[in-house]
Amino acid sequence: MIKSNDEFEALVGRIANLLTARGIPAVLWEGLLLNVHGSFVSVSSVNFVIPDSLIPDATEALAYDPVLDLRQCEEDDAAGHKDHPRPTAHMHCDTNGLEVGFFPQSTTLWFLGAMDRDQARRCLPPIEGLIKASDSSLPSVEPGQLRGRFLTTEAPIWVLPVHSLLEACVRCMMRDGRRHFWHYYFMLQHIRFDMDKDGYLDLGKLSNACRSFYVLGAKATGAGENMPEILENLEKELEEEIEGELVGLGIDQLSLS
Ligand SMILES: [Zn+2]
Repeated sequence: MIKSNDEFEALVGRIANLLTARGIPAVLWEGLLLNVHGSFVSVSSVNFVIPDSLIPDATEALAYDPVLDLRQCEEDDAAGHKDHPRPTAHMHCDTNGLEVGFFPQSTTLWFLGAMDRDQARRCLPPIEGLIKASDSSLPSVEPGQLRGRFLTTEAPIWVLPVHSLLEACVRCMMRDGRRHFWHYYFMLQHIRFDMDKDGYLDLGKLSNACRSFYVLGAKATGAGENMPEILENLEKELEEEIEGELVGLGIDQLSLS
C-alpha cells in the first residue's frame, strides 16, 4: 500500500523519468489530473496520454523496473463499465494495488497537435503550454492530501493547464457518438465546482464553441439533459468541428467503437 503523498509523488515521478529517458512524451490524465488542479477524486490508477505509436514502448519502459514492480495485463478489467473509457494498455502493481494506464492521444488530446519527442527527452513540454505537476500556478493544498500541485518531485510530469483540461473534457464528451458523455461530464463538473473560482479558470483562453457550451450548458443549467435548442445547436457545431479535426488526422470515429 502507498502510505503517503511523498511516496505517491515519487512513484509518478519515477514513471515520468523512465518515459522521459526514452523520449516518450506523456501527459497526466483522468483522476490524478483533476486532483493536481485541486479536486479530490479517489485515485486507484495513474493514467497518461501517449502518442498512439509509442504505447508499446511506454509499456516496455516500465515493465522491468524493479522499484515499480509492474506486471502487464491483457484483460479487460472494466468490462460492463462501458461509459468509462479504458486505457489501450495497462499494468498492475500488486504491492500497492495501483494500475498504470496509457491512453492514445488520438482518442483524448488529438486537438492539441503532435507531441514532440525531442522536447520530451530534454525535459521540456512536449506540447506548447503544458506545465509540470509541480508548477507554482497550480493550487497548493494542505500537505497530506492527495490533491493540488506536487510538492516533492521536480520530475517532468506534464499536465494540461485548466483551460485545456476543460477543452479536452468538452471535446471528449462530444466525440464517438457521445459514447463516454457522462464520464467526461462528471470531469466537467469537477472543473465547474472545484476549479472555476477565484479567477483560476480563464474562459477567454477557450475556443468559442467550448466556452459557449460550458457557460450555457454545464455551468448555467448543471444538467446534461433537456438542453434547450441553443445548446443542441452548439453540440452539433462541436461535433462537426471534432469530426473535421479527426478526418484531418485520418482518424475514423466508427473504427474506434
Ligand atoms: Zn488488468
